Amino acid sequence: MSFLTKSPWLLHYDGSSCNGCDIEVLACLTPLYDIERFGIINTGNPKHADIFLLTGSVNFQNMDIIRNLYSQIPDPKVVVAVGICACSGGIFAECYNVLGGADKVIPVDVYVQGCAARPEAIIDGVVKALGILDRRYKDLKKIKVAS
Ligand code: SF4
Repeated sequence: MSFLTKSPWLLHYDGSSCNGCDIEVLACLTPLYDIERFGIINTGNPKHADIFLLTGSVNFQNMDIIRNLYSQIPDPKVVVAVGICACSGGIFAECYNVLGGADKVIPVDVYVQGCAARPEAIIDGVVKALGILDRRYKDLKKIKVAS
């Protein structure tokens, strides 16, 4: 993560989860798991975010919100789907109003399995996302230098 001149900020959006995965995401912020040791800060503003973390499945009510939030996050950015609902729709996949996982509406970079996803798995997924963010930042810099 040599490029990081600031802490990577994370935007968490709960699509339509049962809140099980959200509780585990919050656990990552506690001193026990302490995700801030990687410099990660939870933000409520998509314009300040680098990582878009989603929980819950995508449905007809939230699909435009997810697309809107994604479009507001500046490049480079990465998307992490947390929990089987965000990965594939999970137990809600067959519901009449559910489209499936987050990748039905936006590109997903990291899939964190589990129901609920464990804090260790979430942190592992976010750290993988930081590596992807690093590569994207370097690619973006190359494009800017070349143009
Ligand atoms: S993956 Fe399980 S715990 Fe997480 S939102 Fe879905 S049903 Fe709830």
